[in-house]
Amino acid sequence: MASNTFEDQDPDPQAQIRASVRALCANFPGDYWRRLDRERAYPVEFVEALTKAGFLAALIPEEYGGSGLTLIEAAAILEEIHACGGNGAACHAQMYTMGTLLRHGSGAQKARWLPALAAGDVRLQAFGVTEPTSGSDMLNLRTTAVREGDHYVINGQKIWTSRAEHSDLMLLIARTSPRELAAKRTDGLSVFLVDLRLAQGTTININPIRTMMNHASTQIFFDDLRVPGDNLIGEEGQGFRYILSGMNAERILIAAECIGDAKWFIARATAYAKEREVFGRRIGQNQGVQFPIARAYAQMRAAELMVGEAAQRYQSGADCGAEANLAKLLAADASWAAAETCVQTHGGFGFAEEFDIERKFRETRLYQVAPISTNLILAYLAEHVLGLPRSY
Ligand SMILES: Cc1cc2nc3c(=O)[nH]c(=O)nc-3n(C[C@H](O)[C@H](O)[C@H](O)COP(=O)(O)OP(=O)(O)OC[C@H]3O[C@@H](n4cnc5c(N)ncnc54)[C@H](O)[C@@H]3O)c2cc1C
Repeated sequence: MASNTFEDQDPDPQAQIRASVRALCANFPGDYWRRLDRERAYPVEFVEALTKAGFLAALIPEEYGGSGLTLIEAAAILEEIHACGGNGAACHAQMYTMGTLLRHGSGAQKARWLPALAAGDVRLQAFGVTEPTSGSDMLNLRTTAVREGDHYVINGQKIWTSRAEHSDLMLLIARTSPRELAAKRTDGLSVFLVDLRLAQGTTININPIRTMMNHASTQIFFDDLRVPGDNLIGEEGQGFRYILSGMNAERILIAAECIGDAKWFIARATAYAKEREVFGRRIGQNQGVQFPIARAYAQMRAAELMVGEAAQRYQSGADCGAEANLAKLLAADASWAAAETCVQTHGGFGFAEEFDIERKFRETRLYQVAPISTNLILAYLAEHVLGLPRSY
């Protein structure tokens, strides 16, 4: 019998990984996330389970003890967590932040940190880029790192550094030479691996920020923090370049989480519309109820294709700036549209805590703003893809 039929082909090459993630997530149902949300507590047990299963080491090469998977599989892992009703934001940075170290770190840095990260002995969950004064204008950041002998002395402030209280290391970007002296706009920034354990409460102060969803975000102050010169990643002054490709990975992975959210909202809305009866018939029989769900589904599928294309391009080493941004924009819009539709479909119950919809609604709203806001993506596309004049 011919074996090369359409039916014989596995429609999803990540099916096995997805099934394993789903099995793990089954141990962390809605009431687990609801309790943490109420207490604004960190999902310690969930992150430990993911680490133990090796999912957070997905992108670490096997020679360093990781799983050696690609961004395509990493995206499938995060999408599945969200499609199961969980929240990968508790730990997703561990996947992509490590990439800067992997691609630009020295042999000694990689040998020191990557096996420990893969084993779960050390956590690299914090990524310190955003500052209160510069915001989206990253090149205007003010935190400084000044060389003193074999150390750098760091002074300044970061905001929205998520998971810093639950991380041992932070990837920090700081200015090592004044902007006015830089030959290129993007020169003069450097990236450091900061050991948060050594200086907390003295030269590093971390203050949690309570937000509309459970996100463990913080504000961090550096006051004469001394970081060994060995912790500089790559060449001094070239840090912006190093974190850019990491940012593409971040956008693609978070876009995958949005696809997972959209799938969760659509599944919930569809199930409810099939079963809820009002005026003697199921609400899903009304086009006014079913069309928005169908539209959200179409939007999600289109965004899913773009996330797939962006991940493929990233993995092949091709330039994927446009695709990563498109994926993030379309997926965040798709999850937000699906969230809105899901609430509307549920009527009053959409607002009830025990349905998890209002929690997921708050969680997925973030992705219109972080890690890059929608306007900044549109500005990127206008300038770099369409060749329109720079608007800022
Ligand atoms: C919960 C949470 C977690 C986060 N986690 C991290 C983290 O771990 N690490 C980290 O470094 N950062 C993190 N961020 C920061 C996030 O990346 C920024 O909030 C985001 O990039 C926007 O920056 P901003 O908040 O300073 O907004 P601003 O830059 O002040 O912008 C405000 C608004 O103005 C718009 N705007 C600004 N300039 C323009 C322009 N030229 N054209 C059109 N519109 C414009 C923006 O789109 C936005 O809507 C997090 C943020 C949140 C809320």
